[in-house]
Amino acid sequence: MNTKNSEKLYKKGLVNLVGAVNSPVRAFSSVGGNPLFIDKAKGAYIKDVDGNKYIDLVLSYGPMILGHRNKKVEKAVTKAIKKGTSFGASTNAEIKLAKIVCDAFPGMDKVRFVNSGTEAVLSAIRLARAHTGKDKIIKFSGCYHGHMDAMLVAAGSGLATLSLPGSKGVPAQSVENTLIAEYNNLETVKAHFDKHDDIAGVILEPVTGNMGVVQPSDEFIKGLRALTKEKNALLICDEVMTGFRSKFGGAQELVGVEADITCLGKVIGGGFPVGAYGARNEIMENVAPLGGMYQAGTLSGNPIAMAAGISTLTELKHQNPYDKFNTVAEKIEKMLLSSAKKYGVDLVVNRFGSMINPFFTNKEVTNFTDAQTSDTDRFAKFFWAMIENGVFLPPSQFEAWFLSSTITMKELKKLEVSIEKSMLVVGNL
Ligand code: PMP
Repeated sequence: MNTKNSEKLYKKGLVNLVGAVNSPVRAFSSVGGNPLFIDKAKGAYIKDVDGNKYIDLVLSYGPMILGHRNKKVEKAVTKAIKKGTSFGASTNAEIKLAKIVCDAFPGMDKVRFVNSGTEAVLSAIRLARAHTGKDKIIKFSGCYHGHMDAMLVAAGSGLATLSLPGSKGVPAQSVENTLIAEYNNLETVKAHFDKHDDIAGVILEPVTGNMGVVQPSDEFIKGLRALTKEKNALLICDEVMTGFRSKFGGAQELVGVEADITCLGKVIGGGFPVGAYGARNEIMENVAPLGGMYQAGTLSGNPIAMAAGISTLTELKHQNPYDKFNTVAEKIEKMLLSSAKKYGVDLVVNRFGSMINPFFTNKEVTNFTDAQTSDTDRFAKFFWAMIENGVFLPPSQFEAWFLSSTITMKELKKLEVSIEKSMLVVGNL
């Protein structure tokens, strides 16, 4: 495979960019080798700067749920650009997107748009503290909530990939109010509540994507809801990844829970930088200008991003690809498991709607400790074999693969061949 142009750009990028990337997971650190540079993408496919074409299962880590360059989104964005790109004053588009989002979440009366998932989470945490007058937050190991200081403890995503327990530059004081519990283990949450009476909230990915895909057990999620209610703490569902991914609305409805505060991002921006946090009126009224919790943004509610969000969600509602996602993901699961069996590879596949991922382990994966039993070297070999065979995957064992509504039988057939060839490579280790 020719990747000469990617290699050239990588070397050039190293001069003025840190590691030639603007987000660490793009550096391919855990799979080795040079990162690929992308030229363009369309529908279910992405093309690198050497002209290699791949089925794209990264999809910008989630936002491109309609595939790349959806015609309606492209038209809406182009139209918005012609009216001006940022005003520093409110627009009708913000009201429209807010209504679509609030209507899709039973527990959300008001929403505030920000520019990233990280901003959504840091604002949601400030809001939980403002509303309850308490300081501590419980998070789960393996869940990633963006790169705010207080959440860079036992985090998944790039931190799992790089095996970093946290991050340099985070003062001890910034994490002293963060308590860590184990996903799917209610007892570890109860233990914190027994010990502390100043817990403002519990934050979780209602289905995780950042330690790979892990679903909450019914007992865990229902128990979490009951416990937070009993202790007057808020339940924060970080749906930056899962929002509108597996149903129109949130994963929380599918797993049977209603959050007090919901964080969103990715899909609601249709490929533009958007995040959001929303809740019932009584909670959102803490936020300035209605209340005393300050949170602001020069480009928040940006008209181009709003246009992309409105058109993406409108088209998503129209296409309603969610049943198809389940069917496609089930087919991919079968392909993975049957190839793995054939070549004697230990493999567990977890999936939730349009999020799926194989763990190279023989242990059922219900939390971060289980996920970490995966053979990451084997994943790295599998990753490169899939690249060679025309499939672009997230370059980490601990990131979910994403599906878009543009995937068809043609791509599935190609995927089957690629999986079979790649599993053969890792099976011969
Ligand atoms: N929360 C979750 C669940 C995420 O998956 C991510 C990003 N992958 C974030 C927060 C942070 O979002 P962003 O990268 O847009 O800051």
